[in-house]
Amino acid sequence: MEEWQRQLQQIVNTLERITKYINITPQEEDAISTLNSRWGTSPYFASLMDKDDPDCPIRRQVLPSLLETENVYGVKDYLVWKENRDTEEVRPDSIARQYENRVAFTITDVCVNYCRHCFRKELVVDKELQLRLDVDEGLAWIAEHKEIRDVLITGGDPLILSDERIEYIIRKLREIPHLEMIRFGSRVPIVLPHRITVGLQKVLGGYHKVPIWLNTQCNHPKEITEMTAEAVYNLQRCGISVGNQAVLLKGINDDVDTFRELHEKLLRVRIRPYYLFYCEPAPGIDHFRTPVERGAELIRDAIRGHTTGMAQPMYVVATNIGKIPLMPDYYIMGKNDKEYTLKNYKGITTKWPNITDK
Ligand SMILES: *Cc1c(COP(=O)(O)O)cnc(C)c1O
Ligand code: SF4
Repeated sequence: MEEWQRQLQQIVNTLERITKYINITPQEEDAISTLNSRWGTSPYFASLMDKDDPDCPIRRQVLPSLLETENVYGVKDYLVWKENRDTEEVRPDSIARQYENRVAFTITDVCVNYCRHCFRKELVVDKELQLRLDVDEGLAWIAEHKEIRDVLITGGDPLILSDERIEYIIRKLREIPHLEMIRFGSRVPIVLPHRITVGLQKVLGGYHKVPIWLNTQCNHPKEITEMTAEAVYNLQRCGISVGNQAVLLKGINDDVDTFRELHEKLLRVRIRPYYLFYCEPAPGIDHFRTPVERGAELIRDAIRGHTTGMAQPMYVVATNIGKIPLMPDYYIMGKNDKEYTLKNYKGITTKWPNITDK
Protein backbone atom coordinates (compact mmCIF):
# COMPACT_ATOMS: atom_id res chain seq x y z
CA MET A 1 0.00 0.00 0.00
CA GLU A 2 1.26 3.46 -0.88
CA GLU A 3 1.40 6.32 1.60
CA TRP A 4 -1.57 8.16 0.05
CA GLN A 5 -3.72 5.07 0.41
CA ARG A 6 -2.59 4.65 4.00
CA GLN A 7 -3.55 8.27 4.62
CA LEU A 8 -7.02 7.65 3.20
CA GLN A 9 -7.43 4.53 5.28
CA GLN A 10 -6.60 6.53 8.39
CA ILE A 11 -8.79 9.48 7.40
CA VAL A 12 -9.34 11.74 10.41
CA ASN A 13 -13.12 11.72 10.78
CA THR A 14 -13.84 10.62 14.33
CA LEU A 15 -13.52 12.33 17.70
CA GLU A 16 -10.97 9.75 18.72
CA ARG A 17 -8.73 10.44 15.72
CA ILE A 18 -8.99 14.23 15.69
CA THR A 19 -8.06 14.50 19.38
CA LYS A 20 -4.65 13.06 18.52
CA TYR A 21 -3.97 16.31 16.67
CA ILE A 22 -5.83 19.01 18.58
CA ASN A 23 -7.26 19.89 21.94
CA ILE A 24 -10.84 19.91 20.86
CA THR A 25 -13.22 22.57 22.22
CA PRO A 26 -16.67 21.71 23.67
CA GLN A 27 -18.22 23.61 20.72
CA GLU A 28 -16.32 21.56 18.16
CA GLU A 29 -17.19 18.36 19.97
CA ASP A 30 -20.84 19.37 20.14
CA ALA A 31 -20.93 20.11 16.40
CA ILE A 32 -19.34 16.76 15.54
CA SER A 33 -21.85 14.80 17.60
CA THR A 34 -24.94 16.88 16.70
CA LEU A 35 -24.61 17.60 13.00
CA ASN A 36 -25.44 14.83 10.61
CA SER A 37 -22.76 15.89 8.19
CA ARG A 38 -19.81 14.18 6.60
CA TRP A 39 -16.49 15.63 7.76
CA GLY A 40 -12.85 14.66 7.77
CA THR A 41 -9.39 15.19 6.40
CA SER A 42 -6.08 13.41 5.85
CA PRO A 43 -3.72 12.81 8.82
CA TYR A 44 -1.24 15.00 6.92
CA PHE A 45 -3.61 17.99 6.72
CA ALA A 46 -4.72 17.45 10.34
CA SER A 47 -1.09 17.63 11.41
CA LEU A 48 -0.93 21.21 10.08
CA MET A 49 -3.63 22.35 12.52
CA ASP A 50 -2.91 24.50 15.53
CA LYS A 51 -3.37 22.29 18.59
CA ASP A 52 -4.89 24.96 20.78
CA ASP A 53 -6.44 27.61 18.56
CA PRO A 54 -10.01 26.87 17.39
CA ASP A 55 -9.69 29.81 14.97
CA CYS A 56 -6.80 28.09 13.19
CA PRO A 57 -7.55 28.54 9.47
CA ILE A 58 -7.11 24.83 8.80
CA ARG A 59 -9.28 23.80 11.74
CA ARG A 60 -12.07 26.08 10.57
CA GLN A 61 -12.04 24.49 7.11
CA VAL A 62 -12.19 20.95 8.53
CA LEU A 63 -14.12 20.90 11.82
CA PRO A 64 -17.94 21.15 11.67
CA SER A 65 -19.48 24.15 13.40
CA LEU A 66 -22.94 24.71 14.89
CA LEU A 67 -23.04 27.92 12.84
CA GLU A 68 -23.80 25.62 9.89
CA THR A 69 -27.36 25.25 11.21
CA GLU A 70 -27.93 28.98 10.69
CA ASN A 71 -29.02 29.95 7.22
CA VAL A 72 -30.18 33.43 6.32
CA TYR A 73 -28.55 34.03 2.92
CA GLY A 74 -28.17 30.49 1.59
CA VAL A 75 -30.18 29.51 -1.50
CA LYS A 76 -32.37 26.40 -1.26
CA ASP A 77 -31.41 23.59 -3.67
CA TYR A 78 -28.38 25.68 -4.46
CA LEU A 79 -26.47 23.23 -6.66
CA VAL A 80 -29.46 22.43 -8.87
CA TRP A 81 -29.87 26.16 -9.53
CA LYS A 82 -26.16 26.95 -9.81
CA GLU A 83 -25.38 24.11 -12.22
CA ASN A 84 -28.50 24.61 -14.32
CA ARG A 85 -29.82 21.15 -13.56
CA ASP A 86 -33.49 22.02 -14.02
CA THR A 87 -33.22 23.58 -17.47
CA GLU A 88 -34.49 22.34 -20.84
CA GLU A 89 -31.28 20.72 -22.05
CA VAL A 90 -31.12 17.12 -20.92
CA ARG A 91 -27.64 16.15 -19.75
CA PRO A 92 -26.16 13.34 -17.71
CA ASP A 93 -25.90 14.19 -13.99
CA SER A 94 -22.10 14.22 -14.34
CA ILE A 95 -22.15 17.15 -16.77
CA ALA A 96 -22.65 20.71 -15.45
CA ARG A 97 -22.96 23.34 -18.11
CA GLN A 98 -22.79 27.11 -18.03
CA TYR A 99 -20.91 27.78 -21.23
CA GLU A 100 -21.27 26.82 -24.88
CA ASN A 101 -17.76 25.40 -25.35
CA ARG A 102 -16.77 23.89 -21.98
CA VAL A 103 -18.30 21.83 -19.20
CA ALA A 104 -17.57 20.61 -15.69
CA PHE A 105 -17.45 16.80 -15.55
CA THR A 106 -18.17 15.52 -12.03
CA ILE A 107 -16.76 12.02 -11.65
CA THR A 108 -16.95 11.41 -7.90
CA ASP A 109 -18.54 12.81 -4.75
CA VAL A 110 -15.69 11.61 -2.53
CA CYS A 111 -13.05 14.04 -1.21
CA VAL A 112 -9.91 13.89 0.89
CA ASN A 113 -10.91 16.97 2.83
CA TYR A 114 -14.57 17.80 3.40
CA CYS A 115 -14.28 21.58 3.32
CA ARG A 116 -16.86 23.21 5.57
CA HIS A 117 -17.31 26.04 3.04
CA CYS A 118 -17.84 23.71 0.05
CA PHE A 119 -20.40 25.12 -2.43
CA ARG A 120 -21.17 21.57 -3.51
CA LYS A 121 -21.92 20.59 0.07
CA GLU A 122 -25.43 19.33 -0.73
CA LEU A 123 -23.77 16.69 -2.91
CA VAL A 124 -20.42 16.16 -1.24
CA VAL A 125 -20.82 16.93 2.46
CA ASP A 126 -24.50 16.62 3.36
CA LYS A 127 -25.40 13.95 0.79
CA GLU A 128 -28.90 15.40 0.31
CA LEU A 129 -28.49 15.60 -3.44
CA GLN A 130 -28.16 12.25 -5.17
CA LEU A 131 -26.54 12.34 -8.59
CA ARG A 132 -25.74 9.52 -10.96
CA LEU A 133 -22.04 10.07 -11.61
CA ASP A 134 -21.61 7.64 -14.47
CA VAL A 135 -18.28 8.28 -16.21
CA ASP A 136 -19.06 6.44 -19.45
CA GLU A 137 -22.37 8.24 -19.82
CA GLY A 138 -20.56 11.57 -19.41
CA LEU A 139 -17.84 10.60 -21.89
CA ALA A 140 -20.47 9.64 -24.47
CA TRP A 141 -22.25 12.99 -24.01
CA ILE A 142 -18.98 14.91 -24.51
CA ALA A 143 -18.18 12.84 -27.62
CA GLU A 144 -21.61 13.71 -29.08
CA HIS A 145 -21.25 17.43 -28.41
CA LYS A 146 -18.76 18.76 -30.93
CA GLU A 147 -18.92 22.29 -29.51
CA ILE A 148 -17.14 21.18 -26.30
CA ARG A 149 -13.43 21.97 -26.53
CA ASP A 150 -12.48 22.01 -22.83
CA VAL A 151 -13.50 19.54 -20.10
CA LEU A 152 -12.99 20.36 -16.46
CA ILE A 153 -12.81 17.13 -14.46
CA THR A 154 -14.05 17.76 -10.97
CA GLY A 155 -15.81 16.20 -7.98
CA GLY A 156 -15.50 15.64 -5.16
CA ASP A 157 -11.83 15.20 -5.73
CA PRO A 158 -11.07 13.40 -9.01
CA LEU A 159 -7.49 12.54 -8.02
CA ILE A 160 -8.80 10.28 -5.27
CA LEU A 161 -9.54 7.70 -7.97
CA SER A 162 -7.03 4.98 -8.81
CA ASP A 163 -4.26 5.49 -11.37
CA GLU A 164 -6.04 3.01 -13.69
CA ARG A 165 -9.33 4.91 -13.51
CA ILE A 166 -7.66 8.27 -14.14
CA GLU A 167 -5.68 6.80 -17.04
CA TYR A 168 -8.91 5.46 -18.55
CA ILE A 169 -10.73 8.80 -18.32
CA ILE A 170 -7.83 10.77 -19.82
CA ARG A 171 -7.36 8.24 -22.62
CA LYS A 172 -11.07 8.27 -23.50
CA LEU A 173 -11.20 12.06 -23.47
CA ARG A 174 -8.13 12.28 -25.73
CA GLU A 175 -9.89 10.01 -28.24
CA ILE A 176 -12.57 12.68 -28.71
CA PRO A 177 -11.41 14.69 -31.75
CA HIS A 178 -12.98 18.03 -30.78
CA LEU A 179 -11.40 18.12 -27.30
CA GLU A 180 -8.52 20.60 -27.08
CA MET A 181 -7.71 20.48 -23.37
CA ILE A 182 -8.38 18.68 -20.12
CA ARG A 183 -8.49 20.36 -16.75
CA PHE A 184 -8.52 18.86 -13.26
CA GLY A 185 -9.92 20.62 -10.22
CA SER A 186 -8.31 18.94 -7.20
CA ARG A 187 -7.29 19.85 -3.65
CA VAL A 188 -4.88 16.89 -3.59
CA PRO A 189 -1.67 18.97 -3.97
CA ILE A 190 -2.72 20.79 -0.76
CA VAL A 191 -4.51 18.17 1.36
CA LEU A 192 -2.76 14.97 0.21
CA PRO A 193 0.42 15.78 -1.76
CA HIS A 194 1.49 12.12 -1.34
CA ARG A 195 -1.05 11.34 -4.09
CA ILE A 196 1.31 12.66 -6.78
CA THR A 197 3.11 9.31 -6.90
CA VAL A 198 5.53 8.04 -9.50
CA GLY A 199 2.67 5.87 -10.80
CA LEU A 200 0.32 8.84 -11.20
CA GLN A 201 3.12 10.84 -12.83
CA LYS A 202 3.41 8.05 -15.42
CA VAL A 203 -0.32 8.34 -16.12
CA LEU A 204 -0.24 12.14 -16.41
CA GLY A 205 3.14 12.62 -18.07
CA GLY A 206 4.47 12.48 -21.60
CA TYR A 207 3.91 14.80 -24.53
CA HIS A 208 0.33 14.94 -25.80
CA LYS A 209 -1.51 17.20 -28.19
CA VAL A 210 -4.31 17.56 -25.63
CA PRO A 211 -2.67 19.13 -22.58
CA ILE A 212 -3.67 18.69 -18.96
CA TRP A 213 -4.01 21.67 -16.63
CA LEU A 214 -4.70 21.49 -12.92
CA ASN A 215 -6.25 23.98 -10.55
CA THR A 216 -6.06 23.33 -6.85
CA GLN A 217 -7.61 25.15 -3.91
CA CYS A 218 -5.42 26.74 -1.27
CA ASN A 219 -6.94 29.36 1.01
CA HIS A 220 -4.29 30.14 3.60
CA PRO A 221 -0.45 30.24 3.62
CA LYS A 222 -0.40 27.63 6.42
CA GLU A 223 -1.66 25.05 3.93
CA ILE A 224 1.57 25.24 1.90
CA THR A 225 4.48 22.98 2.88
CA GLU A 226 7.64 21.53 1.41
CA MET A 227 5.52 18.54 0.38
CA THR A 228 3.19 20.84 -1.57
CA ALA A 229 6.19 22.31 -3.37
CA GLU A 230 7.46 18.86 -4.31
CA ALA A 231 4.06 17.63 -5.52
CA VAL A 232 3.60 20.72 -7.69
CA TYR A 233 7.10 20.38 -9.12
CA ASN A 234 6.42 16.74 -10.00
CA LEU A 235 3.16 17.71 -11.71
CA GLN A 236 5.02 20.32 -13.72
CA ARG A 237 7.62 17.76 -14.76
CA CYS A 238 4.63 15.99 -16.33
CA GLY A 239 3.86 19.13 -18.35
CA ILE A 240 0.97 20.17 -16.12
CA SER A 241 0.59 23.82 -15.15
CA VAL A 242 -0.76 24.22 -11.63
CA GLY A 243 -3.06 27.11 -10.73
CA ASN A 244 -4.97 28.07 -7.62
CA GLN A 245 -8.62 28.81 -7.04
CA ALA A 246 -8.88 30.36 -3.59
CA VAL A 247 -12.17 30.95 -1.83
CA LEU A 248 -12.57 34.23 0.04
CA LEU A 249 -13.31 33.13 3.60
CA LYS A 250 -14.21 35.41 6.50
CA GLY A 251 -11.70 35.23 9.33
CA ILE A 252 -9.41 32.97 7.28
CA ASN A 253 -7.98 34.99 4.40
CA ASP A 254 -9.96 38.24 4.29
CA ASP A 255 -7.27 40.49 5.79
CA VAL A 256 -4.59 42.26 3.76
CA ASP A 257 -1.53 40.57 5.29
CA THR A 258 -2.80 36.99 5.07
CA PHE A 259 -4.15 37.57 1.59
CA ARG A 260 -0.84 38.90 0.29
CA GLU A 261 1.18 36.19 2.03
CA LEU A 262 -1.07 33.51 0.54
CA HIS A 263 -0.56 34.71 -3.00
CA GLU A 264 3.17 35.28 -2.61
CA LYS A 265 3.64 31.88 -1.02
CA LEU A 266 1.75 30.21 -3.87
CA LEU A 267 4.27 31.60 -6.33
CA ARG A 268 7.12 30.39 -4.14
CA VAL A 269 5.90 26.82 -4.73
CA ARG A 270 5.24 27.45 -8.45
CA ILE A 271 1.45 27.68 -8.17
CA ARG A 272 -0.02 30.47 -10.30
CA PRO A 273 -3.04 32.21 -8.74
CA TYR A 274 -5.99 31.88 -11.14
CA TYR A 275 -9.27 32.73 -9.42
CA LEU A 276 -10.38 34.20 -6.14
CA PHE A 277 -13.95 33.03 -5.66
CA TYR A 278 -16.55 34.83 -3.65
CA CYS A 279 -17.87 32.24 -1.18
CA GLU A 280 -21.07 31.00 -2.79
CA PRO A 281 -24.54 31.17 -1.15
CA ALA A 282 -24.90 27.44 -0.53
CA PRO A 283 -27.03 26.80 2.59
CA GLY A 284 -25.30 26.78 5.98
CA ILE A 285 -22.10 28.61 5.13
CA ASP A 286 -23.16 32.20 5.86
CA HIS A 287 -20.47 32.45 8.55
CA PHE A 288 -17.74 32.16 5.90
CA ARG A 289 -19.08 34.95 3.71
CA THR A 290 -17.88 38.58 3.54
CA PRO A 291 -19.45 41.51 1.71
CA VAL A 292 -19.01 40.99 -2.06
CA GLU A 293 -16.74 44.06 -2.37
CA ARG A 294 -14.13 42.59 -0.01
CA GLY A 295 -12.36 40.51 -2.67
CA ALA A 296 -11.83 43.51 -4.95
CA GLU A 297 -10.64 45.58 -1.99
CA LEU A 298 -8.10 42.91 -1.06
CA ILE A 299 -6.71 42.77 -4.58
CA ARG A 300 -6.52 46.57 -4.59
CA ASP A 301 -4.92 46.86 -1.13
CA ALA A 302 -2.75 43.72 -0.93
CA ILE A 303 -1.78 42.67 -4.43
CA ARG A 304 -2.06 44.97 -7.42
CA GLY A 305 1.13 47.03 -7.53
CA HIS A 306 2.08 45.91 -4.02
CA THR A 307 3.67 42.65 -5.13
CA THR A 308 4.57 40.54 -8.18
CA GLY A 309 1.92 40.94 -10.84
CA MET A 310 1.73 37.18 -11.31
CA ALA A 311 0.43 36.87 -7.75
CA GLN A 312 -2.87 38.41 -8.80
CA PRO A 313 -5.91 36.19 -9.17
CA MET A 314 -9.06 37.23 -11.02
CA TYR A 315 -11.82 37.90 -8.50
CA VAL A 316 -15.13 36.36 -9.58
CA VAL A 317 -18.54 35.38 -8.35
CA ALA A 318 -19.41 31.98 -9.76
CA THR A 319 -23.09 32.18 -10.73
CA ASN A 320 -25.57 30.02 -12.63
CA ILE A 321 -24.81 32.05 -15.77
CA GLY A 322 -21.05 31.72 -15.44
CA LYS A 323 -18.28 33.45 -13.57
CA ILE A 324 -18.61 37.21 -13.32
CA PRO A 325 -15.44 39.25 -12.70
CA LEU A 326 -15.58 41.86 -9.95
CA MET A 327 -12.11 43.35 -10.10
CA PRO A 328 -11.21 46.68 -8.47
CA ASP A 329 -12.24 49.48 -10.80
CA TYR A 330 -10.80 52.65 -9.35
CA TYR A 331 -8.00 53.09 -11.90
CA ILE A 332 -9.75 55.48 -14.32
CA MET A 333 -10.31 58.70 -12.37
CA GLY A 334 -11.56 60.74 -15.27
CA LYS A 335 -11.59 61.06 -19.03
CA ASN A 336 -12.15 63.81 -21.58
CA ASP A 337 -11.66 64.14 -25.37
CA LYS A 338 -7.94 64.55 -24.94
CA GLU A 339 -6.85 62.37 -22.08
CA TYR A 340 -7.48 59.95 -19.27
CA THR A 341 -6.53 60.53 -15.66
CA LEU A 342 -5.24 57.24 -14.26
CA LYS A 343 -4.53 56.36 -10.63
CA ASN A 344 -1.96 53.83 -9.43
CA TYR A 345 -1.90 51.58 -6.35
CA LYS A 346 -0.41 54.37 -4.22
CA GLY A 347 -3.14 56.81 -5.18
CA ILE A 348 -0.82 58.82 -7.45
CA THR A 349 -2.38 60.03 -10.71
CA THR A 350 -0.98 60.38 -14.20
CA LYS A 351 -2.27 61.44 -17.64
CA TRP A 352 -2.60 59.26 -20.69
CA PRO A 353 -3.65 60.35 -24.20
CA ASN A 354 -7.14 59.40 -25.30
CA ILE A 355 -7.37 58.21 -28.87
CA THR A 356 -10.89 58.25 -30.21
CA ASP A 357 -12.03 56.14 -33.14
CA LYS A 358 -12.89 59.22 -35.22
C1 LIG B 1 -16.04 27.17 -13.51
C2 LIG B 1 -16.72 26.41 -14.55
C3 LIG B 1 -16.14 26.27 -15.81
C4 LIG B 1 -14.78 26.82 -16.16
O1 LIG B 1 -14.74 28.22 -16.16
P1 LIG B 1 -13.42 28.97 -16.62
O2 LIG B 1 -13.74 30.42 -16.41
O3 LIG B 1 -13.19 28.62 -18.05
O4 LIG B 1 -12.29 28.49 -15.74
C5 LIG B 1 -16.84 25.58 -16.78
N1 LIG B 1 -18.06 25.06 -16.51
C6 LIG B 1 -18.65 25.19 -15.31
C7 LIG B 1 -20.00 24.58 -15.10
C8 LIG B 1 -18.00 25.87 -14.28
O5 LIG B 1 -18.58 25.98 -13.09
S1 SF4 C 1 -12.32 19.43 -2.00
FE1 SF4 C 1 -13.71 20.66 -3.27
S2 SF4 C 1 -15.54 19.38 -3.59
FE2 SF4 C 1 -14.37 18.50 -1.85
S3 SF4 C 1 -15.31 19.42 -0.05
FE3 SF4 C 1 -13.54 20.69 -0.61
S4 SF4 C 1 -14.43 22.33 -1.89
FE4 SF4 C 1 -15.94 20.65 -1.79
